[in-house]
Amino acid sequence: MYTMVRYGWTFELYATVCTSFVSLPKSPQRSSVKQPSTLLLSSTPSSNQTSDVESDSLSHTVGSPEKYAAALGMTLEQVQIRKELREESVRELQEQLEGTFDGKERHRLICQHRFKQGKHPFTCPKCWSYQPVCICGDAPGKKKTIPCEQVIIWTHHSEWGSQSNTGSVLPLVLENTRLLMKGLHDGNLESILNADPTIQPVILWPNVNFSNGNENYVTFDDLVGKKVILLAMEGTWRQARRMVSKFPYPRLSLTGGDSGSNNVPPPISILAPLRCQKDGPKHSVCTAEAVVMALEGMGLDQDPSILELVKRKVDQTRRYRGKLNLGAKQ
Ligand SMILES: [Zn+2]
Repeated sequence: MYTMVRYGWTFELYATVCTSFVSLPKSPQRSSVKQPSTLLLSSTPSSNQTSDVESDSLSHTVGSPEKYAAALGMTLEQVQIRKELREESVRELQEQLEGTFDGKERHRLICQHRFKQGKHPFTCPKCWSYQPVCICGDAPGKKKTIPCEQVIIWTHHSEWGSQSNTGSVLPLVLENTRLLMKGLHDGNLESILNADPTIQPVILWPNVNFSNGNENYVTFDDLVGKKVILLAMEGTWRQARRMVSKFPYPRLSLTGGDSGSNNVPPPISILAPLRCQKDGPKHSVCTAEAVVMALEGMGLDQDPSILELVKRKVDQTRRYRGKLNLGAKQ
């Protein structure tokens, strides 16, 4: 699977739902081959702030099945059991899909499986990092209060559980921030958005060439005094465009463009050195960065620790995947 990042949304050239979804890694090494990371496409060191020790690969975690199990805090038998359970769940899903011809129901089954099983058998259910490099313990004890009612990251099921996803870090550091899955949590989202008629949902969405000019964009000034729920789309570009088209709500863009945008200088991603952006704007930012920038525009005090945690996840994932790839070559 090939991924790239474009202005706050992760893009995956997504073959088919089922083939990518039910593919089960036979081993951590194979997993890394089947899911090349955007982060792997750059060999640039993570940052000037990263120590020499931290810039080392994480080979010790995957050097052997025993080391891998130890890094997971599991026995070899436990690792095997979990892999077998996952294989079984995939077989069950395949059987259910073979007997189901209703498109909506098939979609629901796939979403439900992804929600329960994640994208990989050994990832943290909270931050979606590989377990040996989980960053949950690095999150601050107290979450930051946000300057709006809620932040909802509306996530396509194929992105759910992705180790390179950055939006999954935000609920660890921000209050009233959650990820919901399109196809599984539609009712939850509807309830949230309709709970209070004075709520103003706003979609974080770039005001770029793809716009047909008919969208209603608002500025930060327009939102002052309103009970805003900020919605961010998470998926490939194609998925995100389809997802956003379902919502009638005004959009909020971080950068200049057509009238109605917030005409601020284009943001530069702190994660840029870790990413391939060959088909995206130079100033691509990840979902977490886009959300934080939007919240800062609404009044959130600048706090570098939020994106430092995001960066830590991205960096750890890159190092971990890099070493997994080395392992696969041996
Ligand atoms: Zn975690």
